[in-house]
Amino acid sequence: MRALSAGELLTIWEQGLMQQPVQQALDLLTVACPEISYSQIAQLSIGQRDALLLTLRECTFGSQIQSLATCGKCGEHLELTFDVSDIRTTTPIEPLESCSVQVDSWEIEFRLPNSLDLMMIVSTDSSPSALLERCLLQVREGEEIQPIAQLPNQIAGAVVTQMAKLDPQADVQLNLCCPACSHRWLSTFDIVSFFWSEIHAWAIRTLREIHILASAYGWGEAEILAMSPYRRRLYLEMVGR
Ligand SMILES: [Zn+2]
Repeated sequence: MRALSAGELLTIWEQGLMQQPVQQALDLLTVACPEISYSQIAQLSIGQRDALLLTLRECTFGSQIQSLATCGKCGEHLELTFDVSDIRTTTPIEPLESCSVQVDSWEIEFRLPNSLDLMMIVSTDSSPSALLERCLLQVREGEEIQPIAQLPNQIAGAVVTQMAKLDPQADVQLNLCCPACSHRWLSTFDIVSFFWSEIHAWAIRTLREIHILASAYGWGEAEILAMSPYRRRLYLEMVGR
């Protein structure tokens, strides 16, 4: 993986404005990880993808994360500060070909959900059970192979639990406590939407800076983008902004 240049980030942001989050994540990683093909990235498990996105976020905006949450009980606003390393789990880098779980007399072979599965769910507006069915490879009860669609709910639940265990980075939960009323709850942290909202804010700010410097000095967009943020800031101060 390599860091993205300001110009690349701006291009990905512009292309991603009308895209679904799953596609935005793929586009970011495709440019940042030229050593991995698009189809390999798309077939990484969601946790493996998110581990790469955390690293890219670190390369782009640093390792400290600042986020907001609201207490569901008293409405208090919480400012959260943590490090990328605090939410990084040990996800295997190599994709797992197949996994299996045994529940009573049932043995289920499955693979972990990936970006292609999420894209299919989004594009066809399918239910979460369709996602699970896509990821089941073989269902056996005793010696007999059973139709995937006939998996009992309880066994399906055990498969989902096993999937979460094998791919912990796919579902990051922050353990929060309200300082005002001591209410405790778990809050999902989604690196895709968080990172994308940061990129969006950065892009708007950067375009504004380009507008100010281009108006003041007559420089082109590429020239201004090629400057370090520090040098850009100094010029902005000189033109009084
Ligand atoms: Zn509270």
